[in-house]
Amino acid sequence: MGRLIGGIGCSHSPALAGMFDSGKQDAPDWKPVFDGFAAAKAWLAALRPDVVVVAYNDHLNHFFFDFYPTFALGVAEQFPLADEGRATRAFDPLPGHSAFGWHLAKSLVQDEFDPTICQELAVDHGVLAPLPMLLDHPWRVPIVPLAVNVIQHPLPTARRCFRLGQAIGRAVESYPGKLDVAVLGTGGLSHQLHGPDFGAVNPAWDQAFLDLLEADPEALAALSHDEYMRRGGAEAVEMIIWLIMRGALGPTARRAHRIYGTPAVTGLAVLALEAGAPRERVGHPS
Ligand code: FE
Repeated sequence: MGRLIGGIGCSHSPALAGMFDSGKQDAPDWKPVFDGFAAAKAWLAALRPDVVVVAYNDHLNHFFFDFYPTFALGVAEQFPLADEGRATRAFDPLPGHSAFGWHLAKSLVQDEFDPTICQELAVDHGVLAPLPMLLDHPWRVPIVPLAVNVIQHPLPTARRCFRLGQAIGRAVESYPGKLDVAVLGTGGLSHQLHGPDFGAVNPAWDQAFLDLLEADPEALAALSHDEYMRRGGAEAVEMIIWLIMRGALGPTARRAHRIYGTPAVTGLAVLALEAGAPRERVGHPS
């Protein structure tokens, strides 16, 4: 049977990718953040995941306003890099895990979640900004991408994302083969990318969010989109994606690594969590 082994919440700022690709990880403002990614990468490698579910949001690079699924699950054997209107980064297409992807699709639908099931899906910086800092390239570990609509209202609630994560935890446990699964949730933290408050970050809220994500994620699940946006900026509503990762890990998940910094126009964080015991997961049917 499958086993949930851990999760990572992290930012997916394109600035991260830019600094990484230009070899500037040691720039003073950025080094603590990249050190956090390096620690999380070593931790994840030691867990030896067979597959990583990556909950993220597409930024109008695969989906567009005329067709925007609330949740979209990639079940392909390979995921190309999306065209984001600038030079494509020098990474191979991402390997998928079709068998687990389809199992996840069936299990979620049985569990009354109904993702759009994608046999073709190009992934953008929501996946690719952090992934090279967390997995080796050339890619050895396959992914199952899960795109979440945090772009076009109505958005799924924070609680819906948390419950979806719990359903992913149940799906992992019902997988018929031996499979160790890690879950990533990417986005945020606080950022506002338009208007007079462009570049505003709220470190106090970001740290409070990280505290609550560890200790009381139900409190975060109870917040409205307006509260996320008022506290962290309009684009900070991406933070609800982290609740998918957190929901999968169960109430007794424990911190392995945590780092936070504000080197550019967003709050940047990496939070790695060990999964709780399966029987302790909220909502487990047994
Ligand atoms: Fe984003």
